[in-house]
Amino acid sequence: MSEKFDVIVIGAGPGGYVAAIRAAQLGLKTACVEKWLNKDGKAVFGGTCLNVGCIPSKALLEASHKFAEARDDFEEFGIEAPDVKMDVKKMIARKDKIVNQLTGGIAMLFKANGVTAFEGTGKVLSGKKVEVTGHDGNNQTLEAENIIIASGSVPAEIPPTPLTEGLIVDSTGALEFEETPKRLGVIGGGVIGLELGSVWNRLGSEVTVFEAMDSFLATADQQIAKETKKLLSKQGLNIELSARVTGSDIKDKEVTVKYTDAKGEQEKTFDKLIVCVGRRPYTQSLLSDDAGVSLDERGFIYVDDHCRTSVPGVYAIGDVVRGPMLAHKASEEGIMVADIIAGHKAEVNYDVIPNVIYTFPEVAWVGKTEEELKADGVPVSTGVFPFSAIGRAMANGCTDGMVKIIAHAETDRILGMHILGQNAGEMIHNGVVAMEFGSSAEDLALMCFAHPTLSEAVHEAALSVDGHAIHMA
Ligand code: FAD
Repeated sequence: MSEKFDVIVIGAGPGGYVAAIRAAQLGLKTACVEKWLNKDGKAVFGGTCLNVGCIPSKALLEASHKFAEARDDFEEFGIEAPDVKMDVKKMIARKDKIVNQLTGGIAMLFKANGVTAFEGTGKVLSGKKVEVTGHDGNNQTLEAENIIIASGSVPAEIPPTPLTEGLIVDSTGALEFEETPKRLGVIGGGVIGLELGSVWNRLGSEVTVFEAMDSFLATADQQIAKETKKLLSKQGLNIELSARVTGSDIKDKEVTVKYTDAKGEQEKTFDKLIVCVGRRPYTQSLLSDDAGVSLDERGFIYVDDHCRTSVPGVYAIGDVVRGPMLAHKASEEGIMVADIIAGHKAEVNYDVIPNVIYTFPEVAWVGKTEEELKADGVPVSTGVFPFSAIGRAMANGCTDGMVKIIAHAETDRILGMHILGQNAGEMIHNGVVAMEFGSSAEDLALMCFAHPTLSEAVHEAALSVDGHAIHMA
């Protein structure tokens, strides 16, 4: 007889592993099936986020930032470090160590919470059964009252630039360079392209980012986006907008990218090329023909607001379903679904999910942009406060950027917070908490913020929504 569980989760990324732990904590007999093998061929948990996404990219961003700071900024602080060098192999080894520590941690959390882990590929069969094919090729069938699909996403590819070992790579390959490429091309000026472009630019690559759209960071508030482009360009990122890549040629160890822009047909030659044109939902070998789980027209598993698929008792969460492809969104959906299965009421507030771009300075936002609100005809008041007027920013040596708060012009309710600045990714939680509690800009303005902190810019931006910032002439 096949083993029966209350919940079987397929995929152990930040959606799946969080869902499995929560379900087990709620007393449900839970299994999690994961097929990921790391570069040493070891079965590991953590999915894209821990293995080749959020965490390794941040390890490289931090290392490259420290290096660039020591090289470019220490002198201003009176620190002499005339001969700063980067050992790229050591940087990559440190990143691998952090990844191993975290993925190993998930295995321990599974044990501690009583989640049964299966290493192999899970396939949803009809009748809420899951077939697990182990890495040794052996099959077994499990049964469940509920199934949570959390199979994630994979990098999208484009025909003009097929991946070519060591030369044209996706985001995963860009986390593994053994030396700094002299000339680096990045296709895609989205979050991942800008982060990876920044890493290698700081280490000395001449970086060109090709973005097909004519606006930079089209989903961000455009006041913030324009300033971000200025700062990144000053750092040396050559950002080409309206640049549509049409082809590539490989010769010796170089790749020539062909593209069209306002000036017509162009080409540029690089030592490495990173393709970061987005990610697509991953459903390969996941569903049997009679599973009954529907996909939408873009290949995402179709779900409702509570992540229910077209089959009762089968849920799907994270990158494989609609919504932003973010780890914390996947985790929140995992918690919601586990709670629902355990009989609780649960929701995800999709209007209050923060976005962060971990460049330097960081870009972070929550809620709506001024452009979106104006397009919807919502009357708004905005308060903007620059870090150049914040004492702590001066002491830190980074006065770039600003905080922008957008409130409803009549009710004063905060509808969006947008930050460009050092630690914006931490500060944005001021906005997340405020918006989750339905705060007005005045509520924030009346709170006491510690001095001297960067978050004082949030306070001042809230004060300036009705024109009363203190430190602004
Ligand atoms: P995944 O993390 O993709 O996990 C899915 C898992 O399911 C995988 O382990 C896969 O092996 C497994 N799986 C798939 N099919 C099967 C099957 N049939 N059987 C068994 N197992 C299966 N997000 C952020 O929020 N912040 C960031 O800073 C950030 N940085 C990123 C940087 C990079 C370079 C990349 C590539 C992504 C980044 N992301 C970031 C996005 C983030 O990684 C994803 O949104 C997140 O991992 C999605 O989680 P998930 O659980 O839905 O899917």
